[in-house]
Amino acid sequence: MAQHQFQTEVSQLLHLIIHSLYSNREIFLRELVSNASDALDKLKYLTVADDAYKSISFEPRVDISFNKNEKTLTVKDNGIGMNEADLEESLGTIARSGTKAFLEKLGADAKKDSNLIGQFGVGFYSAFMVADRIEVISRKAGEEAAWKWSSEGKDSYTVEKLETAGREQGTEVLLHLTEEGTEYANRWSIEDIIKRYSNHVAFPIYLTYDEKEYDDKGKEKGSKTKTDRINSGQAIWRRAKAELKEEDYAEFYKQLGHDTEAPLHYVHTKAEGTMEYSTLFYIPSKAPFDMYNVDYKPGVKLYVKRVFITDDDKELMPTYLRFVRGVIDSEDLPLNVSREILQQNKILVNIKNASVKKLLGEFKTLADNASGSDKDREKWETFTKEFNRPLKEGLYQDFANRDALQELVRFKSTAVEGWTSFADYITRMKADQKNIYYITGGDEKTLRASPLLEAYRAKDIEVLVMDDEIDDIVIPSLHSYRRELPGTGGKMETKSWDLKAVNRSGADEELGEKQDKQAEKQAKPVIEKIKKALGDRVKDVKLSRRLHDSPSCIVADENDPSIQMAQMLKAMGQGDMPDVKPILEVNGEHPIVAALKDTDDEGRIADTAGVLLDQALLVEGIKLKDPADFVKRLNRLLSVRDNGVREAASD
Ligand code: ADP
Repeated sequence: MAQHQFQTEVSQLLHLIIHSLYSNREIFLRELVSNASDALDKLKYLTVADDAYKSISFEPRVDISFNKNEKTLTVKDNGIGMNEADLEESLGTIARSGTKAFLEKLGADAKKDSNLIGQFGVGFYSAFMVADRIEVISRKAGEEAAWKWSSEGKDSYTVEKLETAGREQGTEVLLHLTEEGTEYANRWSIEDIIKRYSNHVAFPIYLTYDEKEYDDKGKEKGSKTKTDRINSGQAIWRRAKAELKEEDYAEFYKQLGHDTEAPLHYVHTKAEGTMEYSTLFYIPSKAPFDMYNVDYKPGVKLYVKRVFITDDDKELMPTYLRFVRGVIDSEDLPLNVSREILQQNKILVNIKNASVKKLLGEFKTLADNASGSDKDREKWETFTKEFNRPLKEGLYQDFANRDALQELVRFKSTAVEGWTSFADYITRMKADQKNIYYITGGDEKTLRASPLLEAYRAKDIEVLVMDDEIDDIVIPSLHSYRRELPGTGGKMETKSWDLKAVNRSGADEELGEKQDKQAEKQAKPVIEKIKKALGDRVKDVKLSRRLHDSPSCIVADENDPSIQMAQMLKAMGQGDMPDVKPILEVNGEHPIVAALKDTDDEGRIADTAGVLLDQALLVEGIKLKDPADFVKRLNRLLSVRDNGVREAASD
């Protein structure tokens, strides 16, 4: 018998499970049944797809039994089973790299997050909520030896080889229940939990129990062992929608998505005709915890004619829909389709494309309904809060569905509270307005305070406030928003509005001629002075049309990435990015700028120009390269006497 230490993360997790997660203990049974069902799925697949397993005849089933006196509960399946190496790998480590981050996130609030536990895929370990010792006896299909894994859920476990004679392949999980855990060693609670969480597991689940027998006079005369099937066991996605209730869908979702909360929404589709398939998709109420991990666990399972093929194929959904949970079941794919070549399979590509269209259409309905009842509004708000960001990824990943996606993403705005859409922006636009304006590059507060917005505000032009990092990448790549609208004669026409960043050189054309040619001519000497003083720190210096109160602002050349974007790329290791230089715009009417007209004091011009540039960078949330220089210049300017005489230089 070999003793092994658990991987550190497993020990940490077990500690959390045993000491903090007292709410909702009953889910342990759902997790064990779900593992059993996966194991049956895997073996079933092999028996149809792999010659080496075709001779195994098996009737897939899950068996649950218990013994009140001995305080035990057993969940047994005749699925794929585990050998010594599998046991060590599966029940001694946690493979996914998001583990550490996840455990940290759980932290102090572990009790509240018990539903995350399941999502995270620590299903098996949850049995330590009700057991203080667990034995797993398993024989892998096609192998002779059987193995016993055993642990008290602390730091270590043992694995030993068993005498196997006659044991069918599969796994038996034997729980030695804790005092509190004994409430589950009872027919009614097991039936109740299975009905609630696992009714639609596609294999039969049997419960074995003792029933007392009585004689004619009502006296107990012994007991009889009975075995009943306790789940309905139909693949829910293959059933008619009319037969199914909201609760049926929710129950299946909880098992599939390892979630304790009901889903936000579901879509059940049956396609018949040239292609025959069923899909059942769910949108969770909360974004999956690993949505932003590279090694996120895909949420959609593929079946062929009800036989499970894979739950680990990220290609079944585009990445931006990785939060979707569900099942695709095709009638047309061959059963022995190799998992490796799935991506190139034309049937699957068609199903995937149709599914994406279906889902996006469904999201649109959610959005349209938001103006209805409070409940529908909340539903859409939850959806936006949780999934707005991945949908934005879709805008630059999925060109084919761009038109649908641009109607689904939401933004903050200078004109309204809460979220708004491109479509709503259009309805608020001024009659002669040609472009949609937006500002990016910082948090919401910084953006809203930016001097770049002054003239737009003064002219009452709405600007979308894009405070999401990803906006800087997505929105410029979108270029324009387009829409079918009834045109002259009621015929539908495609109209298009350019998306203009207010921190770009070209975005001020609609702000009108704040200054005429005259003003431009007058300001020229000042502009020249500033330009000379700043040298190659800027790409250009211009008289601004967009400033009202502030003396200066920076914009990026229309063809350059924004400064924030350039900094982000640098931080991401794109070291060969050339330095992006800003264009400085100055407000000719501002006293600081105007005062430069009458001076030839080069030191003062240099200080003023430097401060004009640095303050414009600062309000955009950009870190100065030489903050000490900024402070020195500022101090020198502040010490200038009323008569314009500079104090003796202090540096
Ligand atoms: P998950 O099921 O999310 O992967 P678990 O901790 O519940 O996480 O299980 C870990 C792994 O142990 C499973 O992925 C599977 O490989 C293996 N396993 C668990 N239970 C069984 C079982 N009854 N039969 C075969 N393998 C199992």
